[in-house]
Amino acid sequence: MTHIKLALATVRNTLKESVELVAVSKTKPVELLHEAYEAGQRDFGENKVQEMAAKSEVMPSDVRWHMIGHVQTNKIKYMAPFVHMVHGVDREKVLKELDKQAKKVDRVIHCLLQVHIAQEETKFGWSVSELQSVLPRLSAYPNVSVCGLMGMASNTEDQNQIRSEFMGLKALYESHAITQGWDTLSIGMSGDYTIAMECGATHVRIGSAIFGARNYTP
Ligand SMILES: *Cc1c(COP(=O)(O)O)cnc(C)c1O
Repeated sequence: MTHIKLALATVRNTLKESVELVAVSKTKPVELLHEAYEAGQRDFGENKVQEMAAKSEVMPSDVRWHMIGHVQTNKIKYMAPFVHMVHGVDREKVLKELDKQAKKVDRVIHCLLQVHIAQEETKFGWSVSELQSVLPRLSAYPNVSVCGLMGMASNTEDQNQIRSEFMGLKALYESHAITQGWDTLSIGMSGDYTIAMECGATHVRIGSAIFGARNYTP
């Protein structure tokens, strides 16, 4: 078994049965994605539209592409034809442009609203009150289907803090899930997905635990 296949199997062994794994392959070469694909992985997460589009052209067509990064509205047209789910919808301008571009290609694009749950100011997302106020307007975007919420916990060693951030998001999710018809709560990364699963994650986004550490230096 290759290193990727082994790491993937190891991660899968620790997942609850009902939890979907999005393998976060950002910055990684397609050879590594192919190895994960051969091991049965179909859901891949990327955070740059161009990189995702380039990879989608060379990977098999049954891959489900998840856009997990901050969305720039001028890039939406490049992913509208093929993206499976957009996790990081954090402002109404993105909803509007997703709707417009989805309509052009005759699709309904699934997405998640990203809620700001971390202490850090740098993480994107709606506040709770902003989220409450946008929900009644979602019907204005018929080519967008909001399936639930996404969040990122603080980057901290403090497990209690991570747990309380995830639990807060879970409670918010639960309070709207039935009326909104939601079924997706995307929380948890390599360092905190075990806690996220305890807090009700339906999707975890795991990168480095599968593909190894990322190297951002050119
Ligand atoms: C990079 C990234 C991940 C995966 O992070 P790892 O720590 O490598 O598992 C998950 N979610 C988002 C939004 C990311 O940008």
